[in-house]
Amino acid sequence: MNYLIGIDLGGTNIVCGLLDAEGNVLRQAKRPTEADRGHEDIIRRIAGTAKELMSEQGIDSREVLAVGMGTPGRVNPEMGVSVSSANLGWKNVPVAALLREQLGRPVYIDNDVRMYVYGEAMKGAGAAYRYVLGVTVGTGIASAFVADGRLHYGRTFSAGEIGHVAMDGLTHRCNCGKTGCLETLVSAPGIARYARETIQSGRNSILQQAFPDLDKLTAAAVSWAYDQGDAVAIETMETVGEYLAKALAFNITVLGPEAVIVGGGAALAGERLLGPVKRRLEGLLPNVHREQVPIHTAKWNDEAGIIGSALFAKFSAGGESS
Ligand SMILES: [Zn+2]
Repeated sequence: MNYLIGIDLGGTNIVCGLLDAEGNVLRQAKRPTEADRGHEDIIRRIAGTAKELMSEQGIDSREVLAVGMGTPGRVNPEMGVSVSSANLGWKNVPVAALLREQLGRPVYIDNDVRMYVYGEAMKGAGAAYRYVLGVTVGTGIASAFVADGRLHYGRTFSAGEIGHVAMDGLTHRCNCGKTGCLETLVSAPGIARYARETIQSGRNSILQQAFPDLDKLTAAAVSWAYDQGDAVAIETMETVGEYLAKALAFNITVLGPEAVIVGGGAALAGERLLGPVKRRLEGLLPNVHREQVPIHTAKWNDEAGIIGSALFAKFSAGGESS
């Protein structure tokens, strides 16, 4: 019972890890998801990768306490079911039962953002705090809250879906069908689009020379232009930071975290984005919270998902012995 398996299933890649009981990654492997091959095929390949890692480590599956997996979309962690995932094309897939059949060990699943935040809260940038609010900014934005090592779920396990709150001043249509959702701006595609539209409105930017086809503009390129002192890139980060700060202000006030962790692809922007966020928060937060809530970037990249999944499985397996 000295090992854990943690899996981070994404729309593009599957990251699978073998960890010790403390959540230290011993081995990991990354494979393409190939979602169009269907859930049975994906789960069979995940089990195959997990078995490879165990054999490389020279251990038997009976030495694995539990298996955890984060999956995108809506998840019912009590039932071990992926309720729906647009990324994977899944609907009511009994993931935990199917994977348990293949591996012969207890399997626990949850939403991928919650597993990522759990990994950061327990063994990453939030490890020193009891109350951690984690936000991932990537293709979208979502959050999770960990209090004393436990995730907060809310009704129908839907707490933390902050990306689809409609915000004043935002006018773009969202993939969810609504207009003005937070993630139409505060996300990697949102950052790229804001910069692109600002240039298309007639402003000069070094991004124009770098990207003759502005549709190819990325959030990473906006960070690069920011470092050259480009005015469009600076305005983009200021605006995105302003909206992220507005969203965080209410979440911090309601939840009372000791720290906020920002992760996901757009977190690579680091202080370029978090600087504006911190400056805006100063004026938005009630005095009682203002000076006490540090905002950190995530410690891990790929590993947060597998560490979180593995430790979540350990926590969920709790009383289970043998
Ligand atoms: Zn939306």
